[in-house]
Amino acid sequence: MTAILELRGIGKRFGAFAALDDVGFDVGEGEAVGLIGPNGAGKTTLFNVITGFLPPDAGSIRFAGQSMDRLAPARRVACGLARTFQTAMVFPGLTARENIAMAVRQHAGDGLRWFGGTRAAAAAAQTAARLLGDAGLAHRADTLLCDMSHGERRMIDALMPLALSPRLLLLDEPTAGLTRAESDRLLGILRRNHADTALLLVAHDIDIVFGHCDRVVVMDLGRVIGCGTPAEVREDAVVRRAYLGTMVG
Ligand code: ADP
Ligand code: MG
Repeated sequence: MTAILELRGIGKRFGAFAALDDVGFDVGEGEAVGLIGPNGAGKTTLFNVITGFLPPDAGSIRFAGQSMDRLAPARRVACGLARTFQTAMVFPGLTARENIAMAVRQHAGDGLRWFGGTRAAAAAAQTAARLLGDAGLAHRADTLLCDMSHGERRMIDALMPLALSPRLLLLDEPTAGLTRAESDRLLGILRRNHADTALLLVAHDIDIVFGHCDRVVVMDLGRVIGCGTPAEVREDAVVRRAYLGTMVG
């Protein structure tokens, strides 16, 4: 499988504390990789390093065959490496369609000149409507975000970066606060309707991760302690001892 993301020897210290220590793995094109591990394992720190928000102390990141090491976060996004938008990018007083259209315009470089009402705005609204339709949310397109349920808002959060048609989407606990059924629906949509977008997914519900991911990487104390298919990881003695024993059973 061709790798879209290649991590090698990533290290990150906060003072004397090693939050990441020699982290290395690949994500293949279109592959869904789950990243699991107890609180404090370093998952969010790794996302911040991959996206360029935190400089690593060691290691290298290649994306789509290109070194990301010197690229600012926005340049990485332009290469097709997306993460969920920061909450500040979401406007509760605008509709679902308007929020996603804004993300489309942002990507196209139109920024917040979105209120201009140009042809580009119409095209963005169309893309937004299509994304909402694919997610089974067409009937909610004109609903204000502040009037949507927690599950629907989480869905919108995940749809916004898809407006960029990314080659890899990093999702840090997108299913937090969702029911099992809502989580399954969200992951099902991401995988079915956006099969070309690879996923790196952090989620606490390992049944969701095992059920929707092709491969799973297990971290503990800043290190990768296991990696494989869901079946392999389930059987891995080191992983079971360090992590799964306390989570499964
Ligand atoms: P996870 O997402 O797996 O729960 P994090 O990446 O958030 O773990 O955190 C890994 C470790 O690094 C934790 O012990 C956390 O306290 C520490 N950490 C994270 N960010 C910082 C920071 N900016 N300064 C100091 N310590 C941090
Ligand atoms: Mg985290």
